[in-house]
Amino acid sequence: MFENIQKKLSSAFKNLSGQGKISEKNIKEAVRQVKLSLLEADVNYKVVKDFIDKVKEEAMGAKVLESLTPDQEFIRVVRDNLIELMGGNKPEKISLSRNPGFIMLVGLQGSGKTTHAAKLAKMYQKEGRKPLLIAADTYRPAAIDQLVQLGDSLGVPVFTGDKTDARNIVKEGKKYAEKLLHDIVIVDTAGRLHIDQQMMDEVEDIKNIVNPEEIIMVVDSMMGQDAVSSAKEFNDRLELSGFIVTKLDGDSRGGVIISIREITKKPVKFVGVGEKLDEFEPFYAERYAGRILG
Ligand code: GDP
Repeated sequence: MFENIQKKLSSAFKNLSGQGKISEKNIKEAVRQVKLSLLEADVNYKVVKDFIDKVKEEAMGAKVLESLTPDQEFIRVVRDNLIELMGGNKPEKISLSRNPGFIMLVGLQGSGKTTHAAKLAKMYQKEGRKPLLIAADTYRPAAIDQLVQLGDSLGVPVFTGDKTDARNIVKEGKKYAEKLLHDIVIVDTAGRLHIDQQMMDEVEDIKNIVNPEEIIMVVDSMMGQDAVSSAKEFNDRLELSGFIVTKLDGDSRGGVIISIREITKKPVKFVGVGEKLDEFEPFYAERYAGRILG
């Protein structure tokens, strides 16, 4: 997985061969390459800078393992730090202890909230749970019908209430879930193309109504730098529990994974890798570390 960057760095490493030690001078070019790769992948500039400082410090302090050459050692330091920055190798799970357990999905319009509400429902259904979907995106035309269709295709009920007042839909949906003994409730909320006050007030009210154990922001991996500011705003207002990063089946290198995690300190829990409902998986940092370096 790290072959590409190894190739890219090979010329930068010419001056490392034959030397048993890593110094600031002989890794200068390799450091520059790593920095460029991360910036190209749309990782936030400040995050890149902190990362590079850490890698430089660690690489120079490292005693090169006997089994490795200095260039391999440098790659190891980059790799290990990148995986750590992405949250380590163990995916963070969604954690629900109440019955029913509420998961609320938030995010900008088009990020994949509705699709991922259904993907989560499918995952829980497979585990033998009894999920309910609540369609509270009254802002995007057709979002409610889209969720109803997805729910129908899975055989998972979708609560739509009056279809107009999101707060009311959620209040009624909560009662419905309790009455019908659903053990997992997934709430799809409205987004906007850009954050606005009305949307934030609405999602905050919905949070107060259902008191969810998980508030997950769905982020489009192709969004680049804008993802960082919106993730920060959602997290400041709602105290997120984590992220789902979508559309990683596309061309994006996935730099947002690092940026949003570093800026909010909240984990990426799942990734979306396609439009189909089973194209969804827990987030393994090591699978994406190489891709981010390009
Ligand atoms: P919402 O406005 O946040 O509810 O977004 P939607 O769930 O409607 O998703 C917007 C578009 O992105 C739809 O066409 C989805 O099929 C598509 N989409 C969502 N997740 C993924 C993904 O992981 N990969 C790909 N390729 N498309 C996705």
